[in-house]
Amino acid sequence: MCCDLKRRFLLLYATQKGQAKAIAEEIWQQAGAHGLEADMHCISEMDKYNLETEKDPVVIVISTTGTGDPPDAARKFVKKIQDTTLPPDHFAHLQYGLLGLGDSEYTFFCNGGKTVDRRLQELGAQHFYDTGLADDCVGLELVVDPWIDGLWLALKEAFLLQKEKEGMSSDAVSSSLSAAPHVGHELNLSSEVQNLKLEDERVRSSDVLTQKLVDIHLVAPTRDTEPSLVHSVPPVSQSALSIPALPPEYIEVQFQDTHGKNPHLSSLISEGTAFEVPVTKAVQLTREDAIKTALLLELDIADTVFDYQPGDAFCVICPNNVNEVEELLHILGLSEKGEYFVCVKVKEGTKKKGAAHPQHIPERSTLKFILTWCLEIRAIPKKAFLRALVECTSDVGEKRRLQELCSRQGASDYTRFIRDSNVCLLDLLHAFPSCKPSLNLLIEHLPKLQARSYSVSSSNLYQPGKLCFVFNIVEFPACPARPVSRKGVCTGWLAELVAPLLHPNKNTLDTKGGSSSTEKISIFARPNNNFHLPADPSVPFVMVGPGTGISPFIGFLQHRQKLREEHADWEFGETWLVFGCRHQDRDYLFKQLRCFLENGTLTHLKVCFSRDSSAAEVAPPKYVQDVIRLYAKEIARVLLKERGYFYVCGDKKHMADGVSDAVVDILSMEMEADKLEAMKILAMLREAKRYLQDVWS
Ligand code: FAD
Repeated sequence: MCCDLKRRFLLLYATQKGQAKAIAEEIWQQAGAHGLEADMHCISEMDKYNLETEKDPVVIVISTTGTGDPPDAARKFVKKIQDTTLPPDHFAHLQYGLLGLGDSEYTFFCNGGKTVDRRLQELGAQHFYDTGLADDCVGLELVVDPWIDGLWLALKEAFLLQKEKEGMSSDAVSSSLSAAPHVGHELNLSSEVQNLKLEDERVRSSDVLTQKLVDIHLVAPTRDTEPSLVHSVPPVSQSALSIPALPPEYIEVQFQDTHGKNPHLSSLISEGTAFEVPVTKAVQLTREDAIKTALLLELDIADTVFDYQPGDAFCVICPNNVNEVEELLHILGLSEKGEYFVCVKVKEGTKKKGAAHPQHIPERSTLKFILTWCLEIRAIPKKAFLRALVECTSDVGEKRRLQELCSRQGASDYTRFIRDSNVCLLDLLHAFPSCKPSLNLLIEHLPKLQARSYSVSSSNLYQPGKLCFVFNIVEFPACPARPVSRKGVCTGWLAELVAPLLHPNKNTLDTKGGSSSTEKISIFARPNNNFHLPADPSVPFVMVGPGTGISPFIGFLQHRQKLREEHADWEFGETWLVFGCRHQDRDYLFKQLRCFLENGTLTHLKVCFSRDSSAAEVAPPKYVQDVIRLYAKEIARVLLKERGYFYVCGDKKHMADGVSDAVVDILSMEMEADKLEAMKILAMLREAKRYLQDVWS
């Protein structure tokens, strides 16, 4: 009977940074424990599955990238299903469940998943399970964990339905399904977890799929009443714990004490060519007493074929902090081996499905190179990593706490003490000193060190051979979970690198001249967005860029100035720039913006200061949103009557939504329409690429 059972389902993932893949792998692993077989593929591997003929249930895990795009891996798939010639019953045979991943700080939350979901529905596919939309802003696991929990029952029902359709007796199927190992609702969907007790040291969870139910009994009485990263209180400290299955190890490393060269940094990227370029100038744009420190760097790209348009972003390949790498080597007991070459291989016979050599680890490079350039050592450890760390921890109390932090019962402790505190591996290793992970574990669990994106703040027409960009040095203050303050990986590194060339407080747009420097950084182009000047120069536009959000608009204005100089006969549309900062005298990044006003490049410059007090009778606007409301008529005219463009750049957290709310308000006011109607107009403007955002956190 068993062999008649349909217990296979197709599991597709579309990942950008590895999260969707990791979740799919988790589903794959749990499926085994439920007696099911997940046929897992990256959605891009379209030769390995066929939705047109797929009869089994399909589970899709898909993330979102950019401003609401599906991940690169899903592009071909999305293009295929968006073919408008497909009939509405094209996927009528398909039953699917979809888990979308996103970040609600972005305007188009989970749009990758929503796009696929919507289209599959349009093509007649049926949900066998409600769509889950997980939010990285509050913690993916808040939706992912219960979604996976519920998946097994939904799949069981989907199999039953499928059999019924095929004319088989549902009773027979039902009973066979119940007989299958670990399948069934009664197990409350947690067959892959283990209930552990501390005192029972024999309870080792090396066998991934075994289930051990043991009474809970705490060895150490609780002393403090306040929980912390290392300390728990009831009920967590007294609970039986459901912890994730131990992920199978799949990497093997060998050290070689030989000489050789590390790979070139350009081999670390898959997106085109990297260029190593000198930093020719560094200017601090903010005063020493400003809350944030903004720097402008100028790069010399004259000797490269790197090209850009104003509005483009590009990526900087950055290393981890050198002291953190040394510290990590020390804790791992590998200080002596930093210069050894590491040969990374996939463990023979590993149980990990689709185990492959991690693409971001070179075939051959030194240990220091891997820790410096390849692994995001600051990444917030995922629960699966914590689970693996439990096995490398000798102290009983520390072990228990790590188990709690990756358990279902300790979910809110994980969110509070790890995720929201931005705890990284080093923080954990300090907090749990008996935890001594092996290098292979780090390679298996730490994600790729991502290059950081920056918006170009110059025009290649205005300053040929140069590229400027502006950034805030990201600072993370010390907190209970992390006794030392830190700077952002990339911005901290850049700040240190350019310190010798820094012109303090110059606050200048004139980057001509440049100081000579031997410091070089590696950059590469970031695939295009639509954030460019209107192709027709007579079209008016509004630019809104508080703080470092002004950066691309400097490029726009330089470009425009040059075009005006070179084409006196062209017609140029009206231009608006709305800038905001805290204090006029501390963080007004480009005071020389007035020059653009004086030479006619800029028609309107509106600046607001959120923390300066004013003696004026009518309080001046504080935020860029207030400025937009103040000039409602003019801005609505530009957008509605003159078919103008609206650009927003900067902080995605508060500003971008505040600005779009303000635009909805002014559209509704000026059109005398209700809010819903105004929202539709804004959506249409977005669709027509006339309302464009370049926002980051
Ligand atoms: P990271 O080390 O990556 O830390 C940054 C983020 O990590 C924080 O925002 C926070 O979410 C989290 N984090 C890590 N550790 C902690 C901690 N201990 N406490 C709290 N939070 C923590 N930035 C600019 O300044 N100028 C630009 O022009 C610009 N353009 C961009 C264009 C695009 C298309 C994109 C996607 C981003 C852009 N950014 C820009 C953002 C930039 O890419 C980087 O994210 C930013 O500079 C921080 O990088 P970092 O490595 O210094 O910080």
